[in-house]
Amino acid sequence: MSQIFSSIKEREEKLLIRSYSRYPLAIVKGKMSHLWDADGKEYVDLLAGIAVTALGHCNDEICAVLENQAHKLWHVSNLFYQEEQLELAEEMLSTSHHDKIFFCNSGAEANEAAIKLARRYTKKVKKRDAYEILTIEGCFHGRTLGTLAATGRQALSDGFEPLPTGFRQVPANDIAAMEAAITEKTCAVLLEVVQGEGGVVPLPEHYLKQVEALCRKKDILFICDEVQAGFCRTGCFWAFQNYGLTPDIMSTAKALANGLPMGAMMATDQVAKGFEAGSHATTFGGGALAAAVGTKVVRIMKRDDLSKRAARLGKSLCSRLAALQERLPGKIKEIRGLGLMIGIEIGEKCPEVWLELVHRGFICSLSHNVTLRLLPALTIEEEDLMNFADTLEDILKTL
Ligand SMILES: *Cc1c(COP(=O)(O)O)cnc(C)c1O
Repeated sequence: MSQIFSSIKEREEKLLIRSYSRYPLAIVKGKMSHLWDADGKEYVDLLAGIAVTALGHCNDEICAVLENQAHKLWHVSNLFYQEEQLELAEEMLSTSHHDKIFFCNSGAEANEAAIKLARRYTKKVKKRDAYEILTIEGCFHGRTLGTLAATGRQALSDGFEPLPTGFRQVPANDIAAMEAAITEKTCAVLLEVVQGEGGVVPLPEHYLKQVEALCRKKDILFICDEVQAGFCRTGCFWAFQNYGLTPDIMSTAKALANGLPMGAMMATDQVAKGFEAGSHATTFGGGALAAAVGTKVVRIMKRDDLSKRAARLGKSLCSRLAALQERLPGKIKEIRGLGLMIGIEIGEKCPEVWLELVHRGFICSLSHNVTLRLLPALTIEEEDLMNFADTLEDILKTL
């Protein structure tokens, strides 16, 4: 550990409330898919700030929009009409079957908005006294009290009880269990098409289609959390589009403004009737600065057809990894994913492999201590991905 890094670490320990366990790196600079640490060492970034900087760090086109907007208008609150918001709304809605959008600032907030809309729509429009939302084991929906309750993971809620009620978890890939869990109090199902924090676990297509059909049959809402998988990462603009699903509500955030905090919830015209003026609000949501950046993000993704690029690069990396898996039997347990959302399950030696990757200049995330999770920028050079695969092979050989 370098002197510079140690002193940064020590300084932080005095200042910040302990709530993160950090990787042993202090990052000072980024350009597209490359990062530099405080000692000047360069890394290939395969994590993109957890699927956030999907167009790369300090992308020139995004920087130009940010600079321009910074001299025009930042924030006036949602008391006013702002065209920046409308431009983003038009761009966002052009990507899916939804009719209306609500802006907020994070993934958890987007899910809170989705939960509130589902409940209020059911109560006020459908006139049904139902509020319970079913979620899937292994899911992650955020860290607010409501989204923690939806996430249903004891380790994350330890010490924070009581959590809001009205959430129930069902096992994945078991439609009978879901059907049995639906009661007259159920108003919606909320799921991630590819579970991200759960370790990159794609839900099977037939199961997802069964869930949607069950929601239609029982007349409850179908909600997709696209916070991580959305924005072209899985090969379609939204992950649910891979399977022709049409959720009533969807939430998103991470890549929306390429690193500026921003979230959104989209709904059909019918379900959007669940909110009226005053039902829900946020001070910062859809501010002009973040909205202008978000608009550029969506335009670039559409212009450059980045969902196709993600599908192509994901396929080429996964076949390279599959070959590696065959050459080194037993070293890789499973390769999972969709597009550029990839999990490489290594097992108990994973932390060691991950740290060696860092030493050799490759940053990815270590998921549940057993899986390497890759969420690179959609603009990453194929060469960077192949260099990662070569380096991983080299490390696994000597393991
Ligand atoms: C990251 C994430 C969230 C929470 O987003 P925050 O911006 O951290 O609140 C919710 N759902 C999914 C699927 C996520 O990956």
